[in-house]
Amino acid sequence: MTAPLDPPAVFAEFIARVACYDPAPEGGPAAVLGLRTALGEATFQVSDHVVRAMCRALEAYRDPADRGTCTGCGSRRLDENLHCGDCGRLHGILGQVIAEHARRVAEGQPFGPPA
Ligand SMILES: [Zn+2]
Repeated sequence: MTAPLDPPAVFAEFIARVACYDPAPEGGPAAVLGLRTALGEATFQVSDHVVRAMCRALEAYRDPADRGTCTGCGSRRLDENLHCGDCGRLHGILGQVIAEHARRVAEGQPFGPPA
């Protein structure tokens, strides 16, 4: 169950929250964003600073159902038990520990607690 969203209000709130930190507020709008929903439509003129902030926010978003990729087949369809819906491989704590170990080896990081 997801709470109802008012996208134009969320956009406006985000823009207000970010625009006050614009280092070049006199620069004028860099983009015009139009948003049309069942409730209506809204247009936002946003500066380069705000566009960059929106891009960063979008890049940082992870879907709540995103449990990573299957190490067996690369599928993104891992269920809540980390069971791959495509190849059937079972991931989990041990699988994560092994994957983390492999990642550290690949990055050449030291093991154990920091010195
Ligand atoms: Zn798989």
